[in-house]
Amino acid sequence: MSFDISESKNNLEDKFKVANHLNIFLRRNSVPIIMISSRYLKYGLRTSNARYIINCAIEAIELDFSRRGIKISSFKIYEGQSYYIALMSTDCMYPTVLKKIAMNIEHRSRIGSLMDIDVIDIDATSLTRRICEIEPRKCIICDDYATECLRHLSHKEIEYEDAINEIISNDKFGNKISA
Ligand SMILES: [Zn+2]
Repeated sequence: MSFDISESKNNLEDKFKVANHLNIFLRRNSVPIIMISSRYLKYGLRTSNARYIINCAIEAIELDFSRRGIKISSFKIYEGQSYYIALMSTDCMYPTVLKKIAMNIEHRSRIGSLMDIDVIDIDATSLTRRICEIEPRKCIICDDYATECLRHLSHKEIEYEDAINEIISNDKFGNKISA
C-alpha cells in the first residue's frame, strides 16, 4: 500500500474533527449516543456512497425504534472531506439494548456489512461486540474476520472497491439480499 504524507495529514485532521464533533454532541446530549459511519471509507468508498449507506442505516434504525417505542431526541449529520457521520441520542438509557439493535441492522443485509453503528457510553467509550457476545465482523471479500484481513493486508484496494460497488449497486438496483 502506498503511503502519502499529505493524505495521512488530512486523515489526521479529519479524525480530530470527528472527535471534536463527538465531544460537542456528548456535551449537549446524554449517553448512550449512537454514531453511524461507513466502513472501508479509505478503500475507495466515495462520499456519495457513504451518504447512501448512512441514509440506509438511519432508515433501518428509525423503523426499529418506532416498533420498540424508542424516541430519537437529537440527531445531527457531520460531513468533511473524508468522513460522513451521523450522531443520535435517544430516550433509551440502555446501551446494550441499542448495541443489539445496531448489530442486528449490520447483520440483516449485505449493505449492513458496510455500516458501522457504534454505541457510545459514559467516558465516550464505544461498546464493543465482545461485551454483547457477538462474533467479530466478517470481511466483505473473503470469509475471514474483517480486522484480520485489514491487519494482514490480505486484499488490494481495488478488491475492496469492487466489493463495495457491487454491494451498493445490488442494494440500489438488484435483488436485495436479506436474511
Ligand atoms: Zn478478507
